[in-house]
Amino acid sequence: MKVIEKIREAAKEDRVIFSFEYFPPKTQDGVDNLFDRMERMVAHNPSFCDITWGAGGSTADLTLDISNRMQNVICVETMMHLTCTNMPVDKIDHALDTIKSNGIQNVLALRGDPPHGQDKFVQVEGGFACALDLVRHIRAKYGDYFGITVAGYPEAHPDMITSDGGVSEEGYQSDLAYLKRKVDAGGDLIITQLFYDTDIFLKFVNDCRQIGITCPIVPGIMPINNYKGFLRMTGFCKTKIPDEIKAALEPIKDNEEAVKAYGIHLGTEMCRKILAHGIKTLHLYTLNMEKSALAILMNLGLIDETKVQRSLPWRRPTNAFRAKENVRPIFWANRPKSYISRTVGWDQYPHGRWGDSRNPSYGALSDYQFMRRRSCDKKIQEEWGVPLKCIEDVHERFVNCCLGKIRSNPWSELDGLQPETMMINKELENVNSKGFLTINSQPAVNGEKSDSPSVGWGGPGGYVYQKAYLEFFCSPDKLNALVEKCKELPSLTYMAVNKDGDSISNVESNDVNAVTWGVFPAKEIIQPTVVDPVSFMVWKDEAFDIWTKGWACLFQEGDASRQILDEVRKSYFLVSLVDNDYVNGNIYAAFKDILMI
Ligand code: FAD
Repeated sequence: MKVIEKIREAAKEDRVIFSFEYFPPKTQDGVDNLFDRMERMVAHNPSFCDITWGAGGSTADLTLDISNRMQNVICVETMMHLTCTNMPVDKIDHALDTIKSNGIQNVLALRGDPPHGQDKFVQVEGGFACALDLVRHIRAKYGDYFGITVAGYPEAHPDMITSDGGVSEEGYQSDLAYLKRKVDAGGDLIITQLFYDTDIFLKFVNDCRQIGITCPIVPGIMPINNYKGFLRMTGFCKTKIPDEIKAALEPIKDNEEAVKAYGIHLGTEMCRKILAHGIKTLHLYTLNMEKSALAILMNLGLIDETKVQRSLPWRRPTNAFRAKENVRPIFWANRPKSYISRTVGWDQYPHGRWGDSRNPSYGALSDYQFMRRRSCDKKIQEEWGVPLKCIEDVHERFVNCCLGKIRSNPWSELDGLQPETMMINKELENVNSKGFLTINSQPAVNGEKSDSPSVGWGGPGGYVYQKAYLEFFCSPDKLNALVEKCKELPSLTYMAVNKDGDSISNVESNDVNAVTWGVFPAKEIIQPTVVDPVSFMVWKDEAFDIWTKGWACLFQEGDASRQILDEVRKSYFLVSLVDNDYVNGNIYAAFKDILMI
């Protein structure tokens, strides 16, 4: 969706919205950490996030890759910056074609700074001279597909600012007139350069309105995080620093914590004043840091750490081509990245349904499905790379996992347990300690408020429901006992399959079972999660492969631990069990006698 549409929607409801800006880190570890941070920050529902284009195009491939992952894996509406520096038109088009094919609809069109070591911007052969040319090109070649943002400078562009820090009225007006041309050529909104004098920003907005610029003007707020960085940045951008800010910083400049706290206070006060003037969108330059930006939003009452809301049980996609996706099989609940990558080629979403999984094929399993972030790799190695002597050691690892004693899990991309798992972890401990090794579960829910912190989704005002679900590996003996038990308990439905595809179940091959649904004011019933036999058969290959590619691979070739895990993989069944009685059922009572074996 275009950012301008989000801003218009929010304006209609008189809602304040905010966004975060990030830059591409220099190392792979930095990139991993940035995505961890983004996950946490995006849980607070920013309307969009930006990723910058490295000076002189230095990070082109990385920026393209990060924007793709932001839009499609983090699932946040993404705006990619794009500059003209060192970019002939074919490279510009390559970047735009790439993000278009990845379902990204937002670009911040910039001229860029001169290449390293040069004072003046030089138009590259076959490239553009200024942002205006780029805006015109994007509109001419891509029509209305992209939402285009342009940069605005409340204190005028640094090129217009003289060495004494001043700018002539003529220079300021010519900058404004040029900004209007960028907007008239197709810019939908303006994001401003950082500033610390709020009056200058408010005057700039007023001056823009005077010359007929009517689009939203979004203030770029950069919290002060450390004194030296602040001086460097304001020096580079020739930003005015009001005397009271200089005076406040001088006595605390060597105390990093005090500078940070002041930065949060100042950022909060600046935003308060801006909001009081009726500007309802805030853009935070995070510098890839989390605390100050979130603290400012918390001070403003725009976010609440204790009430992170989910719009669905899984994060809703922002990709323009799958925005209407509304149903997913439960099997990938803890592996959303794998699910997204395996369904990336689906063309069913425009119909608004996940629908029939036999029709569009799931992507083949690739090494991507087993790739982990390095930070996560370390944790897995520590927690799961401990040698195993017998099958009970395997059981113990699963017990510790469902009790939250270890945070990583080869079958999960998430950090730790879902909040709802904490509601049933004693029952899970019991089941796992007897060799039913759970990899996915949910408690039964019968009409909880939709803003419940543990099981809620979809925002306030509705009620949510779910059937108890358990998915686990177990030995053939235990499976046989469970199958017998299910004959006495008609509310239980199950499907079981081993690595080779031998299967047993008490459901029809076409049965699709809704296991999560919600009832909301003035809406049809929403049922975002299902259990279905076809997807289960696709999922089982991934689930069994994880024994080898997610766990056994942590041990040396020939290690006894590997043999134990290989034995489990070859002989155990994967079982999906639903208790359809979400009112009075008790899926764990059904295990009671079986545990005696
Ligand atoms: P332009 O809009 O082309 O303007 C540059 C200057 O030239 C202005 O003073 C303008 O008035 C003048 N000018 C240009 N053409 C004309 C004309 N025909 N007639 C009259 N005057 C003209 N840099 C990066 O490298 N990567 C980023 O990701 C990045 N993100 C940014 C995000 C924001 C919100 C901002 C404010 C800046 C960002 N920058 C980034 C910095 C930016 O690239 C530089 O400030 C650059 O020097 C100018 O880019 P621009 O798009 O504003 O240029």
